[in-house]
Amino acid sequence: MQAQVKLGRIAGISIGLHYSWFIIALLIALSLAAHFHTANPSWSDAIVWSAAIITGVMFFAALLLHELAHSILAKARGMKVREITLFALGGVSQIESEAPDAKSEFWIAIAGPITSVAIGIVLIGAARLAGWRIGTEPGTPVTAVLVWLGYINLALALFNMVPGYPLDGGRVLRAGIWWITRNADRAARLASQIGQTVAFAIILLGLFQFFTEHGNFGGLWLAFVGWFLLDAARTSYVQVSLTTELRGRTVADIMDRNCPTVEAYLSLEDFIDGFLLRTGLRGYVVVHNDQIVGLITPHEVKEVPRDRWSQTSVQAVMRPLAEVRTVSPETPALQALQIMGRHDINQLPVVSNGHLEGLFSRTHVVRFLQAHAQLQNH
Ligand SMILES: [Zn+2]
Repeated sequence: MQAQVKLGRIAGISIGLHYSWFIIALLIALSLAAHFHTANPSWSDAIVWSAAIITGVMFFAALLLHELAHSILAKARGMKVREITLFALGGVSQIESEAPDAKSEFWIAIAGPITSVAIGIVLIGAARLAGWRIGTEPGTPVTAVLVWLGYINLALALFNMVPGYPLDGGRVLRAGIWWITRNADRAARLASQIGQTVAFAIILLGLFQFFTEHGNFGGLWLAFVGWFLLDAARTSYVQVSLTTELRGRTVADIMDRNCPTVEAYLSLEDFIDGFLLRTGLRGYVVVHNDQIVGLITPHEVKEVPRDRWSQTSVQAVMRPLAEVRTVSPETPALQALQIMGRHDINQLPVVSNGHLEGLFSRTHVVRFLQAHAQLQNH
């Protein structure tokens, strides 16, 4: 999930908002404003709206604290955290590597819900101190904000503990299975299967509510949440399979050794006619006197107007070697994929002692996995 609005960094982690978050913040503010209005007819519009908006903004802070708890624990266990993105159904911490052991997985997963429960208890406790009694409608704007935020945080913890991987509850479940079976991949696979089952049950329950209770929109919302979970559980299942297949593989196992090269002095016109259009490959390593000097892709070619193709050399537009990320043949394949994901690139030249050994790309990974699957089916 990519953040559309960047908010800044906390503890080296970039914080961002997905546009869907604004929808949920607006919905919370609107429904709270409607509720405050009917529960306390004596409050002015200004008070109703400030209470609702403050609750919406504080909800954001509480979500962020929940995600920061996951991220800070992951960092303490030696994992890199790239970004926290908040969206309609909560937050996602983009943690770059897998948890090293079942115990770490458990603590990283449970840290979020524990934080939300703690925030919920503190806020409801504060409301009690401010004179609110449990089971009654909060009478002042301050207690109303405290009570609603408290409940939202408790609900957030509860929802996240649903045992559907990749929700926190699913991760806790995975950590448990991992701890018992001592097999991380099997645990992840089982947890995402349970996640799919749970998601399916939530969809059915939501649809049942919607159709039996004459268009109960809470039911429709529940079905939507279930559908989202089903999708997430499926994606994580594919990811686990990918990780299992590629674990223990190096770049050398997968890369293309017949890596296409072009001479640096070639004109763009000759490069396009003789290589790009002829082979259909996307990335070419540029060489000069048998030394790698850079990388050229259709992306660089597009920067040059067509009428200048014949007078421009490949060397003039290529990405120079100093700016190109390379890997060695011994680099683990999963690590190479992570590098490509992090820098949003499609291919990595494989270099050993200054010599080009091959090219590693997503296409090669897909080809490798397909060949592998075919072997298993026969
Ligand atoms: Zn969480």
